[in-house]
Amino acid sequence: MAEPYLLINLASIRHNAELLKSKANNNCELIGVIKADAYGHGALEVCQATDSINIFAVARLSEGVALKLAGVEKSILIFSGVNTHDDLMTAIKFGLIVTIHSESQIELLQELPSESNLHCWVKFDSGMHRLGLHSDELDRALSILSSLHNVKIDGIFSHYSSADNDLERSRLQLNNFDDLVCNRTINTSITNSAGLLQGYFREQSYARVGLSLYGISPFSNKNSSDLGLITSQSLIAFVTSVRRHKKGEPVGYDGVWVSDRDTNLAVVGIGYADGYPRSAKSGTPVLINGVEYPLVGRVSMDLVSIDVGNDSDVKVGDKVTLWGGGLPVEHIAKCADVIPYELLTGVSKRVRRYYSDNLK
Ligand SMILES: *Cc1c(COP(=O)(O)O)cnc(C)c1O
Repeated sequence: MAEPYLLINLASIRHNAELLKSKANNNCELIGVIKADAYGHGALEVCQATDSINIFAVARLSEGVALKLAGVEKSILIFSGVNTHDDLMTAIKFGLIVTIHSESQIELLQELPSESNLHCWVKFDSGMHRLGLHSDELDRALSILSSLHNVKIDGIFSHYSSADNDLERSRLQLNNFDDLVCNRTINTSITNSAGLLQGYFREQSYARVGLSLYGISPFSNKNSSDLGLITSQSLIAFVTSVRRHKKGEPVGYDGVWVSDRDTNLAVVGIGYADGYPRSAKSGTPVLINGVEYPLVGRVSMDLVSIDVGNDSDVKVGDKVTLWGGGLPVEHIAKCADVIPYELLTGVSKRVRRYYSDNLK
């Protein structure tokens, strides 16, 4: 069927994992971040394909439960942790590791049945000021947690707010984190993708990598290939119609683009309901038969129009690459005023996923 699909290359994810590990300090392991269905790549598939990673992380309890129900035996950390007794019991039942980022979560643990067994990571707020315990709360939290015989603290982590673009802020956060953990024998984790690639760590036991694992650069001035990463997905659709278009005529909703010459437009079967961003501006490139052509007019729900000019032999049924395979996701994100994370996590259920597992 000539309908949009996402082609996912699992071998590139393994390549990226090796590369990222080589950028970290000695003895640093990776935590593979597979929240939001592994940024659209399929959490189960990514988990199963990456032998070198033994701990994965998701945002929410239900994401972890789904992976355990699917048979994943590796460790899974829930970044948001749990806030109710029922959710806590669910986490224990499925052997999920919870994040403890607030005093109310610590209170919840006091009601643990004595035969239960819970692993947790403690989250410290080093300066992002979203989730995490403050430095003056941490000692008390750790001593309460250590006193609970059914709770095991697996480590302390913290999260950068601006590791891609703010050295000062990141340095402050790294110093805060190091001051806090330096005299403790405990596993630590400070970096995400951007922090790891910038070298914003001294010693840490784990780096938490999401975007870079999928081969995308977290930096606005660098593409993945500059970093040695291999993008692990291509978004593909097909030409639905090729039409003559007259000079001076608009195309699509609101007529926001008007042609300055007679031309041919290829109408492609993908739109914002598939996760191709409506904010993509006229001029955003797509690839057809290895040639870049500009998107023209508004992205609609199921279709986009492409100006293929008068000399191309683009025809109905031709394959169109919207990103990946020579067209950097990072560049398309820029053309649509979004970040690559939004593109990856926005590809909708209507788009089928196909997997390949070798590097060409
Ligand atoms: C999403 C997330 C990560 C991964 O970030 P990337 O920029 O994709 O590497 C790491 N840590 C936490 C707490 C996260 O929420």
